[in-house]
Amino acid sequence: MTAAVTLIERKKRGEAASADELRALLAGFIARDVPDYQMAAWLMAVCWRGMTDAETLALTEAMVESGATLEWPGLDRPTVDKHSTGGVGDKTSIVLVPLMAAAGAAFVKMSGRGLGHTGGTLDKLESIPGFVCELPLEEMRAQVRRIGCALVGQSPELVPADKLTYALRDVTGTVDSVPLIAASIMSKKLAGGARSIVLDVKWGSGAFMQTQEEARELAATLVRIGTGAGRGTRAVLSGMRQPLGRAVGNALEVREAIETLTGGGPADLWALTLELGSHLLEMSGLAANAEEGHAALIRLRDSGAGAEMLETLIEAQHGDPRVVRAPELLPAAPVVREFVVEEDGERWIEAADARGIGDAALALGAGRKTKADAVDPAVGIVLRGRIGDRVQPGQPLAEVHARTDADAEAAFAALRAAIRLSANPVSPADEPYETVG
Ligand code: URA
Repeated sequence: MTAAVTLIERKKRGEAASADELRALLAGFIARDVPDYQMAAWLMAVCWRGMTDAETLALTEAMVESGATLEWPGLDRPTVDKHSTGGVGDKTSIVLVPLMAAAGAAFVKMSGRGLGHTGGTLDKLESIPGFVCELPLEEMRAQVRRIGCALVGQSPELVPADKLTYALRDVTGTVDSVPLIAASIMSKKLAGGARSIVLDVKWGSGAFMQTQEEARELAATLVRIGTGAGRGTRAVLSGMRQPLGRAVGNALEVREAIETLTGGGPADLWALTLELGSHLLEMSGLAANAEEGHAALIRLRDSGAGAEMLETLIEAQHGDPRVVRAPELLPAAPVVREFVVEEDGERWIEAADARGIGDAALALGAGRKTKADAVDPAVGIVLRGRIGDRVQPGQPLAEVHARTDADAEAAFAALRAAIRLSANPVSPADEPYETVG
C-alpha cells in the first residue's frame, strides 16, 4: 500500500493517484490508521492541485463503498433522485417529490438541515406537526415500495466517509474544491441507488457557487461522475441572486410548496419544478421528451394527484396530512408586520439579495448559526416583489413573521440593506436555465 505521506507529496506535485490508492487512503482514514493531519494535508493538496476526472470518479466510488447502498430488486417503478446545491427559499423537493411519485417514479429524497443563510428541507418538513424525517432504512424502503416516495434525512448508513471527510474539510479550509464537493454530493446520490439523477446547481449571492462559471464547472464535474458511474445524469444551472419563490422560513415555505402543488404559488418555483421534473421523467422513460414531461406534471398538479400524494407521504411519515387542505394548521408567528417602500416616488426593485434575505430569516430564528441551534418553524419572510417589479410609495415589499416586535424591527433593518430600489426601470433577473449533460 502506498503510504499516505507519498500520496500527499505526489498530489502536492500535481500527480494523480490510482483508484486503488484512493480506495486505500479513504479506508485507512475511516479505520483511523491515516490520522486527521495527513488526510487534511492531502485534502489541501487537492484544493490546490485538483483531480483528474478518473480520480474524482474513483474517489466518489471509494466513498460509496464506505457504507451501505440502496438497491431496489423487483421494484416496478423507475428510480429517480434530485440534488440542489442549496439556496434561499428552495422548497422545490416538497413540490417535485410527490408529483414524480404520482407520475409513477420511485423517489427517495435524502435531504439536509439548514445551516447559515441556506435553509434545509428537513427543517421545513418538520414544521408539519408530527412529521418524522429520520426513518430507519428498512421502514423507508417499505414506504417507497408502498407509495413511491420518501422525504428523509441522509441515512448514516450511506457514505459514512462523507460525514468524516466533510467534518475535517469544514475546519481545515478545504470545502471549496470542485472535485471534493462533487465527490461528496455524487457519492450520496450514487449510494441512494437511483438510475436517473437531476442536479440543480445554483449560482448567485444566496448560493454555494457565486458565479455562473463556477456553477457550470461544478455541474459538468457532477454530470461526468454520474454518467461515468452508469447513471442518467443531467444538471440544470439556476440563478440564486434572489430567493426562489416568495417565502423564506420553514412553515411559510411548506405553505408555499402546498400552494404550488395545488395550482397557485410563485411562477419561478413552478417553472423550476417543471424543468427538473421533466428531465427526470424523460431520463427515466416515463415521458418521451421534455414537452410530454411538462404536460404530465401540469396534469398531475391540476388533477390534484400531486397534492394527494403529498398527503399520503405526510401520513406515512407520521405527520398531520390535513395541512395540505388546511395550511392554517401549520405553526404561525405571533407578530406579522409589513415592510413597505419608504421612498416617495415610483421605484423599481434592483436587488432582493438572497444572501441578505437568508441572513434576515436566520436572525429571526428560521435557521441555525451552528449545527446545535434549534429552529423556530413559524418565523420568516414573505417577499412581495421580485427584481424588476415597479413599486409605489407605501407598497409592501415583504411580510416579516417574527416572535417579537423587536425581532421584526431588526429584520426591517436587514431588509433595507438587502432590498435595493432604483429610480430607473430594471429588467427582471429570471435568467434562462442552462442544461448540462
Ligand atoms: N454539499 C455536499 O453535500 N458536499 C459538499 O462538499 C458541499 C456541499
